[in-house]
Amino acid sequence: MNNWIAVFEAANSLEAHTLKGALESRGMAVQLRGEALSGALGELPMDVAQVTLLVQEKDWQRARTFLQGYQRKEKRSWHCGQCGEENDASFEICWRCGSGPADPKP
Ligand SMILES: [Zn+2]
Repeated sequence: MNNWIAVFEAANSLEAHTLKGALESRGMAVQLRGEALSGALGELPMDVAQVTLLVQEKDWQRARTFLQGYQRKEKRSWHCGQCGEENDASFEICWRCGSGPADPKP
């Protein structure tokens, strides 16, 4: 018997399905929870706020490691387009001059 364990809270359905595909391509089975209210699994309601990814207990550690890498990639620092200052990913605008990132998705 397999136990399904929550491994990640996706911000939306699109992110959830992106990550589900990435994990499945690495041989891990994935279930999504949070979409059930809008229909059967496999549909793509785009307005659901949060979706939880679940993996089987045996895959949890691998999935967690992959998802932590994914989160690090999303949250790297960026350089200001105005003054070139390096800003931590937690800043949405430059701490020095108040401008946004030159290229938010490098
Ligand atoms: Zn700046």
